[in-house]
Amino acid sequence: MNFPFPNGEPPRTAQGSACAFVQTKPAGVNEIFLTFDDGPNEPYTSQILDVLKAHDARATFFVCGMGVERFPLVTRRILDEGHSIGNHAYSHSMLLTITGLLGKEIEKTGELILKTTGVKTRLFRPPWGVATPWLKRYLKAHHYQTILWDVNSYDWSGIPASSIEGIVLKKACPDAVILLHDGKNSKQHHDRSQTVQALPAILKALKQRGFCLKGICRANL
Ligand SMILES: [Zn+2]
Repeated sequence: MNFPFPNGEPPRTAQGSACAFVQTKPAGVNEIFLTFDDGPNEPYTSQILDVLKAHDARATFFVCGMGVERFPLVTRRILDEGHSIGNHAYSHSMLLTITGLLGKEIEKTGELILKTTGVKTRLFRPPWGVATPWLKRYLKAHHYQTILWDVNSYDWSGIPASSIEGIVLKKACPDAVILLHDGKNSKQHHDRSQTVQALPAILKALKQRGFCLKGICRANL
């Protein structure tokens, strides 16, 4: 299987210019996709990037526009270190999501990501995973690829690191998309230290099982 460009666009070099390459999945390699939602949200996003770097693992970050505005440097770091980025709307508003009025937020967030990182992403994850018929039509018309998940880590619920680790490792399987969070979608559970704490053991175990950890791009869907 070939992987032309993360996010459907040529990846940037550290200098910000585009370069073309093709990644090829070797035969017999099982892939798994960690995804982090609702950020950027410091200090957790930087801490997660540090752990991923230490384990030479790549992931996908579904960012909210308001976080991109607040933390542009770490948003750029996500791309600079080889991860993928996706649009998660601007404010994570339940009202806008269920009333089908999310278009302006998606557009604004896409523009912020492009302005901040130079990447025009076509990956989208709806807040709460709620994809209404209106939203599906909008995403299709604007050429977005909707990415949901296979494994819910429940890290958003305030459970301890050991539980997050246990859930992810129990349900991990080839090609699974795993839902984790570096940001917040409510005032109640904004502390992502348990996710950060769980991550080294998760990465170590997944690598021991032979998984290749990659960012999502359109070609590996
Ligand atoms: Zn979310």
